[in-house]
Amino acid sequence: MAQLLITGGAGFIGSHCCDVLLEAGHQLVVLDDFSNSSAIALERVADLHGLSLQRQWAEHHGSGSSISLIEGDVRERQTLDQLFTRAKALGRSIEAVIHFAGLKAVGESVQQPLRYWDVNLVGSQRLLEAMETHGCRTLVFSSSATLYGTPEQVPIAESAPIQPINPYGASKAAVETLLADVAGCSGCSDPVQSSPKGWRIARLRYFNPVGAHPSGRIGEDPNGLPNNLFPFVTQVAVGRREALQVFGDDWPTRDGTGVRDYIHVMDLAEGHRAALKTLLAGPPQLLTLNLGSGQGASVLEVIQATEAASGRSIPYRIAPRRPGDAAITVADPSLAERVLGWRTQRTLNDICRDGWAWQKANPHGFST
Ligand code: NAD
Ligand code: UDP
Repeated sequence: MAQLLITGGAGFIGSHCCDVLLEAGHQLVVLDDFSNSSAIALERVADLHGLSLQRQWAEHHGSGSSISLIEGDVRERQTLDQLFTRAKALGRSIEAVIHFAGLKAVGESVQQPLRYWDVNLVGSQRLLEAMETHGCRTLVFSSSATLYGTPEQVPIAESAPIQPINPYGASKAAVETLLADVAGCSGCSDPVQSSPKGWRIARLRYFNPVGAHPSGRIGEDPNGLPNNLFPFVTQVAVGRREALQVFGDDWPTRDGTGVRDYIHVMDLAEGHRAALKTLLAGPPQLLTLNLGSGQGASVLEVIQATEAASGRSIPYRIAPRRPGDAAITVADPSLAERVLGWRTQRTLNDICRDGWAWQKANPHGFST
């Protein structure tokens, strides 16, 4: 199995992806600056596999799965160069990179656009430079459905217009363009293209990743007041917050509240494993794929499903619509199924059960 660099691997999606990749037998080197995560997440991931988290990576590696941690910033070329060089010197080059490191809060991106462009775009550019220098040309990139902006049609196919409405989405769209240029695919928007420059790249557009590992040991641990619905709802259920605000009940949806395509984070992690496998086994190509379930759930449906999973009541009040929100975003995930042989396996009830198990066991996240 391959040695992989996982940037941002201590975060919400990255930590679940590390779990799935260790299960598949890979050796992982995680680079994270812990600006939005805790090393405890990775210690727990290692523990789930009977491994210990290596801080002196590669020195103790055998042939089985392993996980090492480098604390550092993806924007630092020197850190990246050392990492690739060291792996090669120890006889196990980095074969592929999964690039999660980035900033993701929409509201914060409006307040701090320069920081978002720096971490998301410059971080990706430095990483690509280092990969090219060290001859590693396989990359899975965390893109986002947010770059579709307010969709004109649902379900949303990969061919839908890219029209981000905030700096976060704009920075993701810019990285997508950069990746197309690097792959030699400038100006062509086909979701499956061969790469004349010999790169293997998957741009994965996530819909709404939620839920937690079924063990309840890792999950989402947002800093401060959650921006997103799911962590807010579970924090109300566990008694950390008094009530949820439902942003609008006058949307043109079945119950008037916003509809989203929630994808269990374990399904998402399995989508990364499938993308990596497809890239490593196939010719140089640039893939652009939606990762979603194809099903929509409304805010009120999420509240009900979480009440059923937790046995707790979730008080809420109807508030004005949130600026920039769309009524419905739901993926058309059929291309990912055709290209990767992957589709989601878990339901909204599974999401609520696992998300609640994590929140209940860790009411204050990793600082519990
Ligand atoms: P997260 O914040 O939990 O994880 C991101 C990780 O990157 C964190 O561990 C953070 O400490 C690290 N990081 C940030 N800046 C860094 C830097 N300069 N150098 C090294 N590490 C750095 O977020 P997540 O939900 O796991 O998201 C992972 C990726 O997926 C992000 O790129 C995000 O934009 C993208 N994404 C997330 C969602 C979502 O709803 N969670 C949706 C679509 C796309
Ligand atoms: N939402 C809500 N209250 C909250 C947070 C979110 O009613 O405290 C709604 C929001 O308006 C949207 C849905 O829940 O309809 C999902 O929002 P989230 O921020 O989780 O995802 P996004 O809007 O970024 O897809």
